[in-house]
Amino acid sequence: MSILLLDQNTINKIAAGEVVERPASVIKELVENAIDAKADAITIEVKEGGLKFIRITDNGFGIHKEDVKAAFLRHSTSKIKNEEDLTSIMSLGFRGEALASIASVGRVELITKQEAEPVGIRYVIEGGVEKVLEEVGCPIGTTFIVKDLFYNTPARRKFMKTAGTELGYISDLIHKMALGHPEVSFKFINDGKIKLQTTGKNKLKDCIFSVYGMEVAKNLIEINWSFEGMRIEGFIGKPHLNRGNRTYENYFLNGRYIKSKVIEKAIEDGYKSKLMLHQYPFVTFHLHVDGKDVDVNVHPTKMEVRFMEEAKVFQLVYKGIESALNREALIPQVSLEK
Ligand code: ADP
Ligand code: MG
Repeated sequence: MSILLLDQNTINKIAAGEVVERPASVIKELVENAIDAKADAITIEVKEGGLKFIRITDNGFGIHKEDVKAAFLRHSTSKIKNEEDLTSIMSLGFRGEALASIASVGRVELITKQEAEPVGIRYVIEGGVEKVLEEVGCPIGTTFIVKDLFYNTPARRKFMKTAGTELGYISDLIHKMALGHPEVSFKFINDGKIKLQTTGKNKLKDCIFSVYGMEVAKNLIEINWSFEGMRIEGFIGKPHLNRGNRTYENYFLNGRYIKSKVIEKAIEDGYKSKLMLHQYPFVTFHLHVDGKDVDVNVHPTKMEVRFMEEAKVFQLVYKGIESALNREALIPQVSLEK
Protein backbone atom coordinates (compact mmCIF):
# COMPACT_ATOMS: atom_id res chain seq x y z
CA MET A 1 0.00 0.00 0.00
CA SER A 2 1.27 3.47 -0.77
CA ILE A 3 0.01 6.75 0.55
CA LEU A 4 -0.53 9.47 -2.04
CA LEU A 5 -1.51 13.10 -1.83
CA LEU A 6 -4.75 13.53 -3.81
CA ASP A 7 -4.74 15.81 -6.82
CA GLN A 8 -6.53 19.19 -6.52
CA ASN A 9 -9.49 18.16 -8.64
CA THR A 10 -10.21 15.15 -6.46
CA ILE A 11 -9.79 17.24 -3.31
CA ASN A 12 -12.26 19.78 -4.70
CA LYS A 13 -14.79 17.08 -5.52
CA ILE A 14 -14.57 15.72 -1.99
CA ALA A 15 -15.08 19.20 -0.55
CA ALA A 16 -17.97 19.76 -2.95
CA GLY A 17 -19.73 16.87 -1.24
CA GLU A 18 -19.99 19.07 1.85
CA VAL A 19 -20.56 22.49 0.36
CA VAL A 20 -22.67 21.63 -2.69
CA GLU A 21 -25.32 19.27 -1.51
CA ARG A 22 -27.97 20.31 -4.05
CA PRO A 23 -28.84 23.14 -6.46
CA ALA A 24 -30.02 25.32 -3.57
CA SER A 25 -26.53 25.16 -2.04
CA VAL A 26 -25.01 26.53 -5.25
CA ILE A 27 -27.47 29.40 -5.17
CA LYS A 28 -26.73 30.08 -1.51
CA GLU A 29 -23.00 30.35 -2.12
CA LEU A 30 -23.32 32.50 -5.23
CA VAL A 31 -25.87 34.86 -3.68
CA GLU A 32 -23.68 35.22 -0.59
CA ASN A 33 -20.79 36.16 -2.85
CA ALA A 34 -22.97 38.75 -4.60
CA ILE A 35 -23.97 40.27 -1.25
CA ASP A 36 -20.34 40.32 -0.11
CA ALA A 37 -19.57 42.16 -3.36
CA LYS A 38 -22.01 44.89 -2.22
CA ALA A 39 -24.57 44.19 -4.92
CA ASP A 40 -27.94 45.85 -4.34
CA ALA A 41 -29.74 43.97 -7.10
CA ILE A 42 -29.48 40.21 -7.57
CA THR A 43 -31.38 38.14 -10.12
CA ILE A 44 -31.63 34.39 -9.77
CA GLU A 45 -32.93 32.31 -12.67
CA VAL A 46 -33.35 28.55 -12.64
CA LYS A 47 -34.61 25.84 -14.97
CA GLU A 48 -35.64 22.33 -13.95
CA GLY A 49 -35.11 22.87 -10.26
CA GLY A 50 -31.64 24.24 -10.87
CA LEU A 51 -30.31 20.87 -12.00
CA LYS A 52 -30.17 21.95 -15.63
CA PHE A 53 -29.52 25.69 -15.34
CA ILE A 54 -28.81 28.36 -12.74
CA ARG A 55 -27.95 31.97 -13.53
CA ILE A 56 -27.14 34.56 -10.90
CA THR A 57 -26.56 38.14 -11.94
CA ASP A 58 -25.37 40.84 -9.58
CA ASN A 59 -24.39 44.49 -9.84
CA GLY A 60 -21.61 44.20 -7.26
CA PHE A 61 -18.00 45.29 -7.64
CA GLY A 62 -16.98 42.35 -9.85
CA ILE A 63 -13.77 40.33 -9.92
CA HIS A 64 -10.53 41.78 -11.23
CA LYS A 65 -9.40 40.05 -14.42
CA GLU A 66 -6.13 39.03 -12.80
CA ASP A 67 -8.06 37.33 -10.00
CA VAL A 68 -10.56 35.34 -12.02
CA LYS A 69 -8.57 32.10 -12.17
CA ALA A 70 -7.44 32.36 -8.58
CA ALA A 71 -11.04 32.77 -7.39
CA PHE A 72 -11.63 29.15 -8.43
CA LEU A 73 -8.73 27.77 -6.43
CA ARG A 74 -9.48 26.10 -3.17
CA HIS A 75 -8.85 28.25 -0.08
CA SER A 76 -8.56 31.38 -2.16
CA THR A 77 -10.52 34.30 -0.79
CA SER A 78 -10.37 38.07 -0.77
CA LYS A 79 -12.33 38.25 2.50
CA ILE A 80 -9.81 37.27 5.13
CA LYS A 81 -6.04 37.49 5.09
CA ASN A 82 -4.89 35.65 8.15
CA GLU A 83 -5.80 33.67 11.20
CA GLU A 84 -6.56 36.79 13.17
CA ASP A 85 -9.27 37.86 10.70
CA LEU A 86 -11.06 34.61 11.50
CA THR A 87 -11.93 36.04 14.91
CA SER A 88 -14.08 38.87 13.59
CA ILE A 89 -15.79 37.86 10.37
CA MET A 90 -18.44 40.22 9.04
CA SER A 91 -18.60 38.90 5.46
CA LEU A 92 -20.82 35.95 4.55
CA GLY A 93 -17.97 34.02 2.91
CA PHE A 94 -14.43 33.45 4.13
CA ARG A 95 -13.59 29.78 3.46
CA GLY A 96 -12.67 30.29 -0.17
CA GLU A 97 -14.00 26.95 -1.31
CA ALA A 98 -17.39 27.56 -2.91
CA LEU A 99 -16.24 28.40 -6.42
CA ALA A 100 -13.68 25.58 -6.46
CA SER A 101 -16.34 23.14 -5.28
CA ILE A 102 -19.06 24.28 -7.67
CA ALA A 103 -16.70 24.27 -10.66
CA SER A 104 -15.64 20.72 -9.85
CA VAL A 105 -19.19 19.34 -10.10
CA GLY A 106 -20.79 21.48 -12.80
CA ARG A 107 -20.23 23.48 -15.98
CA VAL A 108 -19.58 27.02 -14.87
CA GLU A 109 -19.47 30.20 -16.90
CA LEU A 110 -18.44 33.47 -15.27
CA ILE A 111 -18.76 36.92 -16.78
CA THR A 112 -17.47 39.76 -14.66
CA LYS A 113 -16.28 43.34 -14.88
CA GLN A 114 -15.02 45.88 -12.40
CA GLU A 115 -15.82 49.56 -12.67
CA ALA A 116 -12.29 50.71 -13.55
CA GLU A 117 -11.86 48.16 -16.35
CA PRO A 118 -12.70 48.92 -19.98
CA VAL A 119 -13.75 45.34 -20.72
CA GLY A 120 -14.88 42.32 -18.77
CA ILE A 121 -13.78 38.72 -18.64
CA ARG A 122 -15.57 35.53 -19.61
CA TYR A 123 -14.28 32.35 -18.02
CA VAL A 124 -15.61 28.85 -18.58
CA ILE A 125 -14.61 25.97 -16.34
CA GLU A 126 -16.20 22.53 -16.47
CA GLY A 127 -15.57 19.75 -14.00
CA GLY A 128 -12.57 21.72 -12.74
CA VAL A 129 -11.09 21.98 -16.24
CA GLU A 130 -10.57 25.43 -17.73
CA LYS A 131 -12.21 25.83 -21.16
CA VAL A 132 -12.27 29.52 -22.06
CA LEU A 133 -10.72 32.73 -20.78
CA GLU A 134 -11.43 35.77 -22.94
CA GLU A 135 -12.28 39.45 -22.85
CA VAL A 136 -15.91 40.47 -23.41
CA GLY A 137 -18.02 43.59 -23.25
CA CYS A 138 -20.41 43.46 -20.27
CA PRO A 139 -21.88 45.64 -17.52
CA ILE A 140 -20.24 46.15 -14.12
CA GLY A 141 -20.89 43.20 -11.84
CA THR A 142 -20.87 39.46 -12.06
CA THR A 143 -22.91 36.75 -13.73
CA PHE A 144 -22.50 33.08 -12.92
CA ILE A 145 -24.13 30.36 -15.01
CA VAL A 146 -24.05 26.82 -13.68
CA LYS A 147 -25.28 24.08 -16.01
CA ASP A 148 -25.68 20.34 -15.58
CA LEU A 149 -24.90 20.21 -11.90
CA PHE A 150 -23.41 16.86 -10.81
CA TYR A 151 -23.02 15.74 -14.44
CA ASN A 152 -19.70 14.16 -13.48
CA THR A 153 -20.75 12.78 -10.09
CA PRO A 154 -23.51 10.32 -11.05
CA ALA A 155 -23.92 9.05 -7.50
CA ARG A 156 -24.82 12.54 -6.25
CA ARG A 157 -26.95 13.22 -9.30
CA LYS A 158 -28.98 10.11 -8.55
CA PHE A 159 -29.77 11.37 -5.07
CA MET A 160 -31.41 14.52 -6.37
CA LYS A 161 -35.15 14.68 -5.97
CA THR A 162 -37.57 15.82 -8.67
CA ALA A 163 -37.20 19.30 -10.13
CA GLY A 164 -40.26 20.28 -8.07
CA THR A 165 -38.67 19.26 -4.79
CA GLU A 166 -35.40 21.00 -5.63
CA LEU A 167 -37.36 24.09 -6.58
CA GLY A 168 -38.95 24.00 -3.12
CA TYR A 169 -35.53 24.08 -1.48
CA ILE A 170 -34.47 26.92 -3.76
CA SER A 171 -37.58 29.04 -3.08
CA ASP A 172 -37.15 28.56 0.63
CA LEU A 173 -33.54 29.62 0.45
CA ILE A 174 -34.26 32.71 -1.66
CA HIS A 175 -37.03 33.74 0.72
CA LYS A 176 -34.55 33.62 3.57
CA MET A 177 -31.91 35.49 1.62
CA ALA A 178 -34.43 38.21 0.78
CA LEU A 179 -35.58 38.50 4.41
CA GLY A 180 -31.95 38.60 5.52
CA HIS A 181 -31.13 41.45 3.13
CA PRO A 182 -33.99 43.92 2.70
CA GLU A 183 -31.41 46.40 1.34
CA VAL A 184 -30.96 44.17 -1.71
CA SER A 185 -33.53 43.90 -4.48
CA PHE A 186 -34.05 40.22 -5.26
CA LYS A 187 -35.68 38.82 -8.36
CA PHE A 188 -36.29 35.11 -8.65
CA ILE A 189 -37.34 33.61 -11.97
CA ASN A 190 -38.26 29.97 -12.40
CA ASP A 191 -38.70 28.57 -15.91
CA GLY A 192 -39.29 32.09 -17.19
CA LYS A 193 -41.83 33.11 -14.53
CA ILE A 194 -41.15 35.67 -11.80
CA LYS A 195 -41.66 33.97 -8.43
CA LEU A 196 -40.42 36.68 -6.07
CA GLN A 197 -39.40 40.28 -6.31
CA THR A 198 -38.36 42.57 -3.49
CA THR A 199 -37.84 46.33 -3.61
CA GLY A 200 -34.40 46.61 -2.04
CA LYS A 201 -35.62 49.68 -0.13
CA ASN A 202 -34.46 48.30 3.18
CA LYS A 203 -37.97 47.72 4.53
CA LEU A 204 -38.13 44.34 6.26
CA LYS A 205 -41.91 44.52 6.51
CA ASP A 206 -42.20 44.85 2.72
CA CYS A 207 -40.01 41.79 2.32
CA ILE A 208 -42.17 39.83 4.74
CA PHE A 209 -45.19 40.85 2.70
CA SER A 210 -43.51 39.75 -0.57
CA VAL A 211 -42.61 36.37 0.90
CA TYR A 212 -45.57 35.54 3.15
CA GLY A 213 -48.42 37.69 1.86
CA MET A 214 -50.99 39.93 3.48
CA GLU A 215 -52.30 37.69 6.24
CA VAL A 216 -48.88 37.55 7.90
CA ALA A 217 -47.89 41.14 7.07
CA LYS A 218 -50.91 42.62 8.82
CA ASN A 219 -50.42 40.63 12.01
CA LEU A 220 -46.92 41.70 12.95
CA ILE A 221 -45.50 43.34 16.03
CA GLU A 222 -42.31 45.33 15.73
CA ILE A 223 -39.39 44.27 17.87
CA ASN A 224 -36.45 46.50 18.66
CA TRP A 225 -34.25 45.97 21.69
CA SER A 226 -30.66 46.47 22.74
CA PHE A 227 -28.65 44.70 25.39
CA GLU A 228 -24.96 44.81 26.24
CA GLY A 229 -23.92 46.20 22.86
CA MET A 230 -26.09 43.76 20.90
CA ARG A 231 -29.29 44.61 19.09
CA ILE A 232 -32.36 42.75 17.87
CA GLU A 233 -34.75 44.27 15.35
CA GLY A 234 -37.50 42.99 13.14
CA PHE A 235 -41.01 41.63 13.46
CA ILE A 236 -42.73 38.91 15.39
CA GLY A 237 -46.18 37.54 14.69
CA LYS A 238 -49.21 37.95 16.88
CA PRO A 239 -49.64 34.66 18.74
CA HIS A 240 -52.48 33.43 16.51
CA LEU A 241 -50.09 33.25 13.52
CA ASN A 242 -48.58 30.10 15.01
CA ARG A 243 -47.60 26.86 13.32
CA GLY A 244 -47.00 23.31 14.44
CA ASN A 245 -43.31 23.50 13.48
CA ARG A 246 -40.50 26.01 13.31
CA THR A 247 -40.74 26.83 9.60
CA TYR A 248 -42.00 30.31 10.53
CA GLU A 249 -38.89 31.12 12.56
CA ASN A 250 -36.34 33.17 10.62
CA TYR A 251 -33.47 34.93 12.28
CA PHE A 252 -30.30 36.42 10.94
CA LEU A 253 -27.00 37.11 12.62
CA ASN A 254 -25.26 40.03 10.93
CA GLY A 255 -27.21 39.18 7.76
CA ARG A 256 -26.51 35.44 7.91
CA TYR A 257 -29.44 33.02 8.23
CA ILE A 258 -28.65 30.78 11.18
CA LYS A 259 -30.15 28.08 13.36
CA SER A 260 -29.56 28.21 17.10
CA LYS A 261 -30.90 26.24 20.04
CA VAL A 262 -30.38 29.20 22.38
CA ILE A 263 -32.46 31.46 20.17
CA GLU A 264 -35.17 28.81 19.74
CA LYS A 265 -35.45 28.59 23.50
CA ALA A 266 -35.49 32.36 23.95
CA ILE A 267 -38.32 32.66 21.42
CA GLU A 268 -40.28 29.94 23.16
CA ASP A 269 -39.81 31.52 26.59
CA GLY A 270 -40.56 34.98 25.23
CA TYR A 271 -44.01 33.88 24.07
CA LYS A 272 -44.45 31.79 27.21
CA SER A 273 -48.12 31.20 27.98
CA LYS A 274 -49.26 32.95 24.82
CA LEU A 275 -48.69 29.79 22.80
CA MET A 276 -49.76 26.24 23.45
CA LEU A 277 -47.27 23.42 23.70
CA HIS A 278 -45.74 22.52 20.31
CA GLN A 279 -46.99 25.71 18.72
CA TYR A 280 -44.36 28.00 17.25
CA PRO A 281 -44.72 31.67 16.41
CA PHE A 282 -43.88 33.65 13.30
CA VAL A 283 -40.65 35.57 13.81
CA THR A 284 -38.32 37.33 11.41
CA PHE A 285 -35.63 39.35 13.10
CA HIS A 286 -32.07 40.47 12.74
CA LEU A 287 -29.40 40.23 15.40
CA HIS A 288 -26.50 42.65 15.30
CA VAL A 289 -23.60 41.30 17.27
CA ASP A 290 -19.95 42.31 17.11
CA GLY A 291 -17.97 39.87 14.94
CA LYS A 292 -15.64 39.24 17.89
CA ASP A 293 -18.48 37.85 20.00
CA VAL A 294 -19.39 35.03 17.66
CA ASP A 295 -17.64 32.18 15.88
CA VAL A 296 -19.11 31.40 12.45
CA ASN A 297 -16.35 28.96 11.54
CA VAL A 298 -18.15 25.91 12.91
CA HIS A 299 -19.43 24.14 9.80
CA PRO A 300 -18.86 24.38 6.01
CA THR A 301 -22.41 25.60 5.38
CA LYS A 302 -21.94 28.31 8.05
CA MET A 303 -25.48 27.96 9.38
CA GLU A 304 -24.31 27.01 12.84
CA VAL A 305 -22.57 29.60 14.95
CA ARG A 306 -21.10 29.73 18.43
CA PHE A 307 -21.82 32.72 20.62
CA MET A 308 -19.12 33.68 23.09
CA GLU A 309 -21.78 34.64 25.62
CA GLU A 310 -24.88 32.57 25.03
CA ALA A 311 -26.65 33.80 28.14
CA LYS A 312 -26.53 37.39 26.90
CA VAL A 313 -27.90 36.44 23.49
CA PHE A 314 -30.69 34.58 25.24
CA GLN A 315 -31.52 37.66 27.32
CA LEU A 316 -31.48 39.90 24.26
CA VAL A 317 -33.96 37.77 22.33
CA TYR A 318 -36.10 36.85 25.31
CA LYS A 319 -36.44 40.42 26.60
CA GLY A 320 -36.92 41.78 23.11
CA ILE A 321 -39.84 39.46 22.44
CA GLU A 322 -41.35 39.83 25.88
CA SER A 323 -41.32 43.62 25.74
CA ALA A 324 -42.78 43.68 22.22
CA LEU A 325 -45.62 41.39 23.29
CA ASN A 326 -46.26 43.43 26.46
CA ARG A 327 -46.36 46.66 24.50
CA GLU A 328 -48.81 45.09 22.06
CA ALA A 329 -51.03 43.97 24.96
CA LEU A 330 -51.30 47.60 26.10
CA ILE A 331 -52.61 48.82 22.77
CA PRO A 332 -56.39 48.97 23.04
CA GLN A 333 -57.96 46.70 20.45
CA VAL A 334 -60.41 48.50 18.24
CA SER A 335 -63.84 47.15 18.92
CA LEU A 336 -66.35 46.87 16.13
CA GLU A 337 -69.27 47.20 18.51
CA LYS A 338 -70.54 50.48 19.86
P1 ADP B 1 -15.31 33.07 -0.27
O1 ADP B 1 -16.66 33.65 -0.54
O2 ADP B 1 -15.28 32.22 0.93
O3 ADP B 1 -14.21 34.10 -0.31
P2 ADP B 1 -15.67 31.77 -2.85
O4 ADP B 1 -15.07 30.52 -3.42
O5 ADP B 1 -17.14 31.80 -2.68
O6 ADP B 1 -14.94 32.04 -1.47
O7 ADP B 1 -15.24 33.00 -3.76
C1 ADP B 1 -13.84 33.22 -3.99
C2 ADP B 1 -13.56 34.69 -4.26
O8 ADP B 1 -14.12 35.07 -5.52
C3 ADP B 1 -14.21 35.66 -3.27
O9 ADP B 1 -13.39 35.83 -2.11
C4 ADP B 1 -14.31 36.93 -4.09
O10 ADP B 1 -13.13 37.65 -4.07
C5 ADP B 1 -14.55 36.42 -5.51
N1 ADP B 1 -15.98 36.45 -5.89
C6 ADP B 1 -16.81 35.40 -5.98
N2 ADP B 1 -18.04 35.76 -6.40
C7 ADP B 1 -18.01 37.10 -6.55
C8 ADP B 1 -18.98 38.10 -6.97
N3 ADP B 1 -20.23 37.76 -7.29
N4 ADP B 1 -18.56 39.40 -7.02
C9 ADP B 1 -17.29 39.73 -6.72
N5 ADP B 1 -16.34 38.85 -6.31
C10 ADP B 1 -16.68 37.54 -6.24
MG1 MG C 1 -18.31 32.58 -1.06
